[in-house]
Amino acid sequence: MKKAFILFITFINLLYSQDYTLIKAGKLFDGKNNLLKENVSILVKGNSIVDVGENISIPQNTKTIDLSGFTVMPGLIDAHTHIALHPGDYNTQIMKETPEYKAIYASISAKITLESGVTTIRDLGNEGSGLADIALRDAINKEIIPGPRILTCIQPITATGAYIVTGYSPFVKTPSYSADGPVEIRQQVRNLVKLGADVIKIYMESFEKKQTSNDSLTGAFNYTKEEFQTLVDEAHRAGLKVAAHTYSDSAARLAIEVGVNSIEHGLYIQEETFRRMAQKNIYFVPTLLVYELWRDDKLFGTLSASEKAKLTYTCTRHMETFKRALKTPVKIVFGTDTFELPGTNTQELELMVRYGMKPEDALRSATSVAADLLGLPEIGTIEKNKTADLIAFTGNPVKDISVVQKIAFVMKNGKIYVEPKKN
Ligand SMILES: [Zn+2]
Repeated sequence: MKKAFILFITFINLLYSQDYTLIKAGKLFDGKNNLLKENVSILVKGNSIVDVGENISIPQNTKTIDLSGFTVMPGLIDAHTHIALHPGDYNTQIMKETPEYKAIYASISAKITLESGVTTIRDLGNEGSGLADIALRDAINKEIIPGPRILTCIQPITATGAYIVTGYSPFVKTPSYSADGPVEIRQQVRNLVKLGADVIKIYMESFEKKQTSNDSLTGAFNYTKEEFQTLVDEAHRAGLKVAAHTYSDSAARLAIEVGVNSIEHGLYIQEETFRRMAQKNIYFVPTLLVYELWRDDKLFGTLSASEKAKLTYTCTRHMETFKRALKTPVKIVFGTDTFELPGTNTQELELMVRYGMKPEDALRSATSVAADLLGLPEIGTIEKNKTADLIAFTGNPVKDISVVQKIAFVMKNGKIYVEPKKN
C-alpha cells in the first residue's frame, strides 16, 4: 500500500514537473521574416522551443511570462568579440596581467554581455590570456557562471613580427603567436584544434611589418599564398571555419582565393570583391563601431591630433565600404570587436542602419545570418525545435533600431537571466 502511494506521488510529480514556459509576445521578430507578428505565443520546454503561434495548445501547469508590452526576438549573435580583454590600457593588459586575472575579469564581462541581449559570441583572440576563453566557455556551458554561448579561436595564427605589441626593446619578451612556413602553420592549427578551438582566426596583413596606406592600419601581407592556403586547408580538414582579419582590398582578394569563411573589418573592400565574396559564400563582418569608439577617445584613451585625423579617415572610408557592400548580395554579419566595452554591442546595429542597412536586415545579420556563419542551425530564429534563446525590449526596432539597446528580458538555452521589472 505504501509502495503504491509513493508510486502515485511520483506519477503526480512527473505530471506537474513538466517545465513548460509560455511567453506571450506583443510583437515578434522571428529572425527570418520582415513582418513583425503580433500577439504570438512561444512555448518553451527545457532548452527548446516546442511551439510558436497565435493559437497553440497549452499544457497544464505552464508558467506564463507576459511580454505583451514588448517585442521579442532571437538572442543576438556577435560574430567578433575579444571577451578576455577589458577596459584600460591595452599594453598593460598584455604585458602586466596574468591570464588568471583576465579570466576573472572576463567572467564579469560575459555576464554583462549576456544581460545586454547577446546570447552567443564568436571570440576571435584572447590576446595572451592563456586558455581563459576556453575555461569561460566551458564554465558557461555547465551553467557555473552566466554568459553567452562562446565559440572561440583561442589565439590568432600569424607570422613572426606581425600582430605584436610595439614600442618595446627587442630584448623584452612580448607574447607572440607566430608560426612560419607550411609545416609550423599546420602544426599550429592542429595545436589549436587539440586545445579546443571552435574556429581559426588569421591576420592577413599587419601594419607592424610595413604600413601600406595613410590610414596606419593596412600593412604588408603576413604570409605567402602557400602559407595562407595551408592554414585554410588544415582548418577545413579539422572541420573548423576560418575568419580572416583584413583591411586592404588586395588582402581580401587573397583571402577569397584561399577560401576563408569570413572577412573581418575589410575596411577598403571594393564592390567587385564583395561580389566575389557573395559568389563563394564568404561572409563580411564589418565591425563598424570599434573604429568610431577609438576615434572618439572611448577605447584607447585620448588620441593625439594626428592619430585622430587618421582614425577619422579610416572611419569615413569604412563607412563608404559598408555602403558598397550593401549594393551587392554579400552576406553581412553583426560583429562588434568592442572588446573593452562589454554590453555596448547593440550600438553596432544603430551604425549599420545609419549607413543604409534596412533594420530588418540588420536584425537578421545578428540572428539567422550570424547563425549560418557560425554553423549553429539550432539558434538564430524563433521556430519549433530551435534552442530557446529569446530577448525582449519595448518599442519597434524596425522604426527605431536603438530600442534593442534597452533589453528587458533575456532567456538563453531556456533559462531566464533578465526579467522585466515588476511595478
Ligand atoms: Zn578583433
